Formats: sequence, structure tokens, C-alpha cells
Amino acid sequence: MKRRSFLKNSASAAILTGVAGCSQASSSAENSVSPSPPGTGPYFHQGRIEGYKEFRIIDPGRKITKIETFSRENIAVVRVSTDDGHSGWGQISTYNSDIVSMILHRNLAQKVLGKDPALIDQIADQCIEENLKYPWSYVNRALGGIDTAIWDLYGQITAKPVCELLGGEVKPVRIYGSSMSRSIKPDEEVERMIRLRDEKGINAFKFRIGKEAARNGDAWEMRSEDMISTVGPALADSCALLADANSCYTPDRAIHYGRMLQDNGIDQFEEPCPYWETEWIKEVTDALDLDVSGGEQDNDIAKWRRMINSHTFDIIQPDPLYLGGITRTWRTALMAKLVGTPCVPHSANHGMVTLFTLHLMRAIPNPGKYLEFSIEFDSGINKETRALYGPELKIEDGALHLPAEPGWGLTIHPEWLNKAEYQLSELA
Ligand SMILES: [Mg+2]
Repeated sequence: MKRRSFLKNSASAAILTGVAGCSQASSSAENSVSPSPPGTGPYFHQGRIEGYKEFRIIDPGRKITKIETFSRENIAVVRVSTDDGHSGWGQISTYNSDIVSMILHRNLAQKVLGKDPALIDQIADQCIEENLKYPWSYVNRALGGIDTAIWDLYGQITAKPVCELLGGEVKPVRIYGSSMSRSIKPDEEVERMIRLRDEKGINAFKFRIGKEAARNGDAWEMRSEDMISTVGPALADSCALLADANSCYTPDRAIHYGRMLQDNGIDQFEEPCPYWETEWIKEVTDALDLDVSGGEQDNDIAKWRRMINSHTFDIIQPDPLYLGGITRTWRTALMAKLVGTPCVPHSANHGMVTLFTLHLMRAIPNPGKYLEFSIEFDSGINKETRALYGPELKIEDGALHLPAEPGWGLTIHPEWLNKAEYQLSELA
């Protein structure tokens, strides 16, 4: 609570003065230059903070000539190529990848083809602003594919991992094992967490309470109460514990369960209320001592600014692919840094998003304590992601290894690509 009061004050100070921490982008990202002036007043477009420097990771002078998508049931990857023969791989956010691929080619490709890939801030802004009649979700998901492919392109051209291009260092990232299950019983959940703790050294775990956007509903009667009172006492001494309600509760119920979480040794409560009810979330954050986190769905960067500056969350969790890529996530993290709020980019599956968040966690100036890593190793989307790329991510001593190879440091399996639906947009 004490920390929160301090943050509130520093947030207010930042809003009033707009200066603190403004040098972060320029000090962390090499080869950057000032943006073209957006206007005469202190009007910061698309999540920029004062002093923000647009990225110049590579020298200007190339043209983007080709954008390809390879789409399968729940995953689509994107390849961006330039006129001098370089290319980079990115990924569209998981699910409905066929729809997003279509939107990429119809709404975004013509805005990106012919552009200089060095100007990634301008490309990202243009894709959003020229799609003003099609706000957010699908446009941002498609932009996420293009943006992450351009960051990989930078890595291929400079022979450096993205993390280093962002000013970070290649080192393992501590994870929390994230249960995605609401059908698992409390005893079974404890059992698999203990196994993962002892076998892989993971010492932070998240479990699920409530039900997704369920208006205070539960998977079955008293499941949440049983989960909290079983997992907490069994693991709180040896592990950090988190709980995720996925937009379930009204503020009164969220505060009720939040206090129960606190009393049972859980120290982070994610997405307590419907994510669109920003004031509800803030009410919960203000009422509880544990850290309230969230924001994975939020893809409007101006809404992010408002939520950050009003201290809606103690920890922000923007999803790089829902939000529209690395560039916009970077800006969001810097806005949070300005008011002292940690950022843990969201990564709920083992697709390329986990690579993207790994690199970000080692580069942003305000990373949280640990990165989400799903413990549903063999089910759902993770079966598909495993076939997508190599080498497989390795957990050691509770941390994920960050590849040191150029770009994202992975290879897309050709056999995965061969079975995908292919679409191409190219410069005439
Ligand atoms: Mg979540």
C-alpha cells in the first residue's frame, strides 16, 4: 500500500510535468533519431513519451517489396522481404489466423509495401491511423505480424538478437508456470506445480479462479474458494503465487476474493474485473494490498496511457501481438516506466509470442519479476506451436533460455510452412 501511494504521487507528478524518465527510449535503443514534430504542444502521438526517439536500428535506404503470410488453423507467420534480398519472420497473434491474414493483405500490406523498413515507428503508426475506421483487434493483430517480422529483419541484417538491438542483454528470464485450466481440481493443481517446482526449478505459479467474463460465475460451486485455500497453504512457502480471474468479477466480489488471496499467501491478482471496466479495476487495485495486474486485451495505446497514468494496475501486461508489435509494446512499457509501474508483456502460449516477450523482458527498463509460461505443455494451442519452430525453448532453474542467434533466434520448420495456406502481397 505504501508503494502504491508513492506511485500515485509520482504518476501525478509525471502527468503535470511530463518530464521524468523521458530519456529512457534514447538510452536503451541505439541508432535512434528524433521523430518528426507531431505539433506545437505537448501532444504525444500513439504512446510516445516526451523525449521518445524513433528507432533507427538499420540505415535507411531499403524498400519492403514482399509480405507473405503462411496460415494454419490457429497460427499464422509473416515474412517481410526487402529489395536487397533480406527477410525476417514474425507471427500474427494466435487464433483466427485466416481472418487476420486476410486483413493483413487487404488493410495493411499496401501501406507497408515500398516503405523503408528502417522507419518502423512510422510504419506502425500509419497502419493504425489509416485504419481509423477499423479500430484495434484484427488490424493490431495483423500489424503485430508485420512489426515482429521487421524486428527479425533487423536482426538478420545486423546479425544481432532483437534483445540487444533494443539495448538489452541475452540472459535467461525467470518464469512463472501458468495454469490455463479451470477443469483441474485443487489437489491435482498442487501436485503438478510441486512436480514442476522440483523437476524444473520453477518457483512461481499462477492458477485460475472464477470463469472467463462470467459475471461472478465459477467453474463449479466453491471451486475458487477451494483453489485458493488449497494452493496457497501448499505452495506459498516455497513459491510466489498468482491468480487470474480473466475478467470475471464485479468489484465487490473481486475485493472479496482478493482478500482471500492475500490471506492465503498469493501476491498477484490478474484481470479481476471485465477488462473494459477500467474504473472497476482501479477500485479493486486501490482496495487491495496485493499487486493487481492486467491489460492483455488492451490494444488502444491511448487507453493504455490513461490506465497507466491513473494507476489502474500495479503491474501492466500488454500483449505484444494484440497491441500491434514490439514497437507499440516498447512505447507502452516506457509510459509505465515513467510512473514506476513494472511491465510483464503477456505470453499465454508457446508460440513466437513467448520469444517476443523474452526479448522484451531483457530489454525494457521496467520488467516485472517473471514471465508467464504456460504449463499446459501438451494440450491445446501448444501442440501446434511445438510444430512451428525450433529449437524448443528450454527451462533451467526456473528460467527460460533466450536464444542468442540473430533476430528472434529461431527457425520456422519448413514442413509447417508446407501445410499452410499461402498469401502474397508484393510491390508492383
Ligand atoms: Mg491472463
